[in-house]
Amino acid sequence: MTVAPLPPVKPPATIRHAYVHVPFCPSICPYCDFHVLERRGDLVERYLARIGQEAETLAKQYDIQLDTLYLGGGTPSFLREGEMEALVASLRRWLGWGRLENTLEVNPGTVSPGRAAHWRGLGFDRASVGVQSLDDATLRFLGRQHDAQAAREAVTQLVQAGFRVSGDLITAVAGQPLESDIAGLLSLGVEHVSAYTLTIEPGTPFARRGVVVREEDEERGFQQTEALLTAAGFERYEISNYASGLAAQSRHNRAYWTGEYFLGLGPGGAGSYPGNVDGQPFRRTNPHLHQWLAGEQGEAEMLEPLDVVTDALFMNLRLRQGLHLPTLSRRSGVDVAAHYAPVIAEQIRLGLLAQAGEHLRATPQGWWLLNRVVTAFLEFDEVGGTGESGPVTTRLSVPLT
Ligand code: SF4
Repeated sequence: MTVAPLPPVKPPATIRHAYVHVPFCPSICPYCDFHVLERRGDLVERYLARIGQEAETLAKQYDIQLDTLYLGGGTPSFLREGEMEALVASLRRWLGWGRLENTLEVNPGTVSPGRAAHWRGLGFDRASVGVQSLDDATLRFLGRQHDAQAAREAVTQLVQAGFRVSGDLITAVAGQPLESDIAGLLSLGVEHVSAYTLTIEPGTPFARRGVVVREEDEERGFQQTEALLTAAGFERYEISNYASGLAAQSRHNRAYWTGEYFLGLGPGGAGSYPGNVDGQPFRRTNPHLHQWLAGEQGEAEMLEPLDVVTDALFMNLRLRQGLHLPTLSRRSGVDVAAHYAPVIAEQIRLGLLAQAGEHLRATPQGWWLLNRVVTAFLEFDEVGGTGESGPVTTRLSVPLT
């Protein structure tokens, strides 16, 4: 296929974002397909030693000046106070601390006023809380260990400790009272809501039990969440994320969606890196705990110009603002508007994409059918730009957040 060339302009090679995966959870939820495990023996101790080594290695390889740090999992808030202090000390020593935002993922049941104050004292300023629902029947169905009252108390304690708080909701559960879930969450003072559709991933207990998500529940969750949150003054700035204002958006996740480089530490942690030898960027996902403890690294997946483009299409189109075509062309070295002209025109004709000047964005219908939109771009490349259908492979790795 012919790719219209442009001189590539590489983004600055400084890395400004870091994701750190803490894989331990008190128990494993039946829908979860993240890399998680219960703590046993000296696993946490060995994890802490290894993460220090990994941070040191990365610090020697890259110019790192962090704007954001995100401690995700798993359940990082499940770490004991001394363990959290040791982890933060390692990260601060080798990577520094986020200049703009430092997020801790928190599960209800691991919070107390004292623990919230301790995390604030360590430097975390934003908490992403796994509320999922404020309805006890929905929480029981999801296999969560907390009830609605514990979730309310956790959010309240974090807000009182001075955190910017985001509440996670799972939608599309049959019978879930979404209206009271959202009203209840907003009444607690969250500034941000992440609402993800329940998905049944292969190999999970839900999949083995034959749990299915009905399309009408999925669509109801998708539409109703937006209606309720926008009526409350929140903006849907990303397909699954809502903020009460610009300053309430997740700065860390915006870095993923706009294609910035980020470090990925910890078992299963995914990172996106500038090339340090020949300039070719790559992504790498760390192996699971035992291989990672043994010092193994995930294989680097080198990104060709069209990989950079399709990754950016998938991620940027999740944002309300969409993508800026000339910026992506400069970053990738591919004249995106010219290369994809037929597929862009077709998606606009279908009402799934809209173009305003140099910006391309998904319409509301395009957001609902985003996988179909991105698949059209991938298929276009896989058949050499003829627009005919061909086999599709998913080339994007979405980092755990
Ligand atoms: S859903 Fe969250 S709390 Fe449940 S097992 Fe997965 S990471 Fe842990």
